Amino acid sequence: MISKGLLPALLISVVLSFSSCTRDAYYQNNKAHQKKVAEATQVLLETPKTKLESPNDTLVINDQWIGTTNFSIRKPNFVVIHHTAQESLDQTIRTFTVTRTSVSSHYVISRDGTVVQMLNDYLRSWHAGRGSWGNDTDLNSSSIGIELDNNGSEYFTDKQIESLIQVLKVLKEKYNIPTANFIGHADLAPGRKVDPSEYFPWKKLADAGFGYWYDEKILQPDYEGKVPVNFNPIDALRIIGYNISDPAAAIQSFKLHFTKREINNPELTDLDKMILYDLYLKYR
Ligand SMILES: [Zn+2]
Repeated sequence: MISKGLLPALLISVVLSFSSCTRDAYYQNNKAHQKKVAEATQVLLETPKTKLESPNDTLVINDQWIGTTNFSIRKPNFVVIHHTAQESLDQTIRTFTVTRTSVSSHYVISRDGTVVQMLNDYLRSWHAGRGSWGNDTDLNSSSIGIELDNNGSEYFTDKQIESLIQVLKVLKEKYNIPTANFIGHADLAPGRKVDPSEYFPWKKLADAGFGYWYDEKILQPDYEGKVPVNFNPIDALRIIGYNISDPAAAIQSFKLHFTKREINNPELTDLDKMILYDLYLKYR
């Protein structure tokens, strides 16, 4: 039997432990995150060593160190959009919170539109991997990664795309990211990645100011425009940003993003070329 005085105390402790369970589902994880951030940012507090201080270190190149106060922190200039190829938000979060996977992203957006931020925008998340866009060969350093909870063979929900557009609006304004710099994982890693899939509504994003889209007049049967005779589609892909070392792979990524037809056919039809020419004029 529990004494009268003990009962309220027990109840309080049960309530407290329950609320701490729900509140602290990721407590240890977030503590480990803070420790890692502290380690990563420690490098910013170091003042550069001089040759005199480190005579044997060949990487030390300074004769003298004099600090300036005119600086700020470098900021992201691209956004890379992914689909998770997983079955749920929880599964993705698990993947991004265990160290052995070595993958992460700044944001994860669930099918119901919930946005989960997993990393400060200024830190380098591991989402892009090997690849390039234009001359940028380290997209992890220059971009923000956004993962959409989607298994790769289904449409994205309206709520998810609405949330994505809200996130993109904030990022574009906050970091002054150019319209052309909103790309997909498949765009920067042709032949290696196919996300986000052909179900991803790039036109809707372009209409909202994130990436470009072609003039859909081109699709009308009576459209009379032509590409110039000397138009080189592979050069156009390169100028847009695609790595063309494997032209068939670059064409596949282009089709995945823009034409969404015969994605695995490395040939470009006359219609594909007209779409590509129109986009080249916008991206160049
Ligand atoms: Zn991806």
